Amino acid sequence: MQKLVFIFSLFLFSITVKAQEALDDIVESEKKHFLHLHKSTKGGAGNSENVTYQRLEFQVNPNVKYIAGKVTTYFIPATASNFIEFDLSDSLTVDSIVYHQTSLSFSHVNEIIHANFPSTISALQTDSIAVYYHGVPTGSGFGSFVQSVHDFNAPQVPPNNTPVIWTLSEPYGAKDWWPCKQNLSDKIDSIDILVTAPDSFQVASNGLIVQEIINGNLKTTHWKHRYPIAAYLVCFAVTNYATFNHYIPFNGDTLLMSVYAYPEHLADAQSHIPDYTAFMQLYDTLFGAYPFYGEKYGIAEFGWGGGMEHQTMTFQTSFGFELTAHELAHHWFGDKLTCSTWNDIWLNEGFATYLAGLCYEHIGPQWWEIYKSQKRGAALAEPHGSVWCDDTTSVGRIFNSHLSYAKGAMVLHSLRYVLGDEIFYQSLKKYLSDVNLAYAFASTSDLQKHVEAESGKDLSQFFNDWIYGKGFPTYQISWSQNFDNVITATVNQTQSDPSVSFFEMPLPLLLKNGNRDTTLILEHHFSGEAFSFPISFLADSLIFDPHQFIIWDTAKVTRLPAYDFSFFVYPNPVKEQLQLRVEALQGGKAEVQIYNALGQLVLNGTQEFTAGRNTLQLEVKNFLAGTYQINMNALGKKVNSTFVKVN
Ligand SMILES: [Zn+2]
Repeated sequence: MQKLVFIFSLFLFSITVKAQEALDDIVESEKKHFLHLHKSTKGGAGNSENVTYQRLEFQVNPNVKYIAGKVTTYFIPATASNFIEFDLSDSLTVDSIVYHQTSLSFSHVNEIIHANFPSTISALQTDSIAVYYHGVPTGSGFGSFVQSVHDFNAPQVPPNNTPVIWTLSEPYGAKDWWPCKQNLSDKIDSIDILVTAPDSFQVASNGLIVQEIINGNLKTTHWKHRYPIAAYLVCFAVTNYATFNHYIPFNGDTLLMSVYAYPEHLADAQSHIPDYTAFMQLYDTLFGAYPFYGEKYGIAEFGWGGGMEHQTMTFQTSFGFELTAHELAHHWFGDKLTCSTWNDIWLNEGFATYLAGLCYEHIGPQWWEIYKSQKRGAALAEPHGSVWCDDTTSVGRIFNSHLSYAKGAMVLHSLRYVLGDEIFYQSLKKYLSDVNLAYAFASTSDLQKHVEAESGKDLSQFFNDWIYGKGFPTYQISWSQNFDNVITATVNQTQSDPSVSFFEMPLPLLLKNGNRDTTLILEHHFSGEAFSFPISFLADSLIFDPHQFIIWDTAKVTRLPAYDFSFFVYPNPVKEQLQLRVEALQGGKAEVQIYNALGQLVLNGTQEFTAGRNTLQLEVKNFLAGTYQINMNALGKKVNSTFVKVN
């Protein structure tokens, strides 16, 4: 934990900037990936088969932007069929398609391979087919398959300029470098990836290494992955990686972690080992075991500005706290449960953003309040936007960092506040382990069903207001406290967007004075609702939502005087000096009369006071023991109280 202590000692400003930069990097990277992918989503290969297994064999050289490969697909047709289709970019050349040792006729246009079987094949029977292809992947300007160099800024003289190839297969970019089915409705149950490259390079990929086979100056690295995986989460990267394994203590056992760092950043990658361990153990505790526990967790460095949550091998531009926490979090939210539509992207990104926040809460608490205020601030940048993505034709909208990321994260924090920690975490564990969703796809309504089942609450209003509805509330609170310590508060709310007529939310209020405080929760049902409740001390301030559970723009808090003129006396009983605490809207003079128990006037005088709070003294040491009534007449108002004199 040495590194964290050092980082946390940085100035607040720099922490905030770093955190925002980290989120911006993540968002920018994921947006760029999608930008390319989204352009390529027209049409798509037919999807009537259940793909059970794919064996991906690639030949690459990091010095050259080129790929040759053979992809063997095992599948079960849902219905009898005489063809099969795959997605593959037109920039790649299909050499042949082999089915039961026979070359098939095929077409390859509009990024779809259409291969005809010799005769109709039966439904519900496992079959297989192999596609041989080669070419220079074009991708977009951002690339799904990037050939580049690294350590060009390293201090070596001359610079090394080591070549590197990495893939970026967000949902619709897989076809830029391999023949696949890139839908979001059927995961590949199992894959093997065999990458052949010059033997001086290391290959990072999904799952576990089976073996490395040397053949002359070439090396084939064989990875296997035995969990269902969406095509966009399949990856590999090749360069002169410096690798190390770390064994994370995990449920009385250990979990393998494999890190593939550029050699010039190896020391930095190693310095973050305490973070990797802490994040994994925290998520394990809160959300259940790491979903790919039977294999590994890995990080491979790449040259993109940000991170990508490739299953069991995140690709990251750095090993920093928030980026690593975010990409690891996607293994629960994004990889194990993948959003079923782009409307539901917040189920990936809002959760990953929130889980990074939980790492601050539990591991770097100095950053927790900063994180929340920053995410709340980001959400406020979109007064007319919703967490749920209402326009999937706009890439900028889908990957809007204010809505899908920051607001999604803060709404989860509100949901946790409404449900309480126990129900919140328990419902998420059940959501993650739902057999219909786990290792498959989930929607916002799936999440809602789970939190409603666990809490027994109807959360439709919460989801309608905060997830489907747009904008956020602004509050105006006026309050006062009587001398019997009863607080009276009136809470008004306005909304930034007409799609929500009122944001229902329990409101936390902190009341305090110099040495005491208490927090009250108001169940707020309508604007203008008035509340009255006693507390046990005289408060001098009221703070709205002190721990940032709610997304709100401004909360104007106004204290009203309890009365135009009021007072109370203490100590009571009194021996010598009676104190009069006087509160008044404006200054003036008060007539003061004190009567004994027989109704006889024993003191008659005047006292001056100022606007606001005054403490006046009255000498009563010569009074006989007994009960007295004190009357004050000021600002046209008569008020009285009693006290007991003792000797
Ligand atoms: Zn993400």
